[in-house]
Amino acid sequence: MDVSAYKEALLRKRGEILAAGGVKPLQTSMETNTRQGDLADQASGNNEVHIQLKLKQTDAKILQAIEEALWRMEQNTFGICRDCGEEIAAARLNAIPWTRVCITCKEKQNT
Ligand SMILES: [Zn+2]
Repeated sequence: MDVSAYKEALLRKRGEILAAGGVKPLQTSMETNTRQGDLADQASGNNEVHIQLKLKQTDAKILQAIEEALWRMEQNTFGICRDCGEEIAAARLNAIPWTRVCITCKEKQNT
């Protein structure tokens, strides 16, 4: 399997997430985190804050998945479903190169 195109996509996506606010001076990011925590506590019914926090969590999850996918490339197990061990369809990898599971296992998770 030629993973170079997927690797490129993973690195590009990682760069996008980091550029979108992942990397900040330590003091600033700590300040932001504290403020966000307060906001979340005060306004549990505030959808906008909730959505912003959720987006950040999603970015963090994708970043972790990207790191794992790059690691799996090193191990030559990239593109293998974590749950069933089958190869993940190329169309799915093209859409989500950092995915851990095949579409069948993903659908099982959602039900
Ligand atoms: Zn599977």
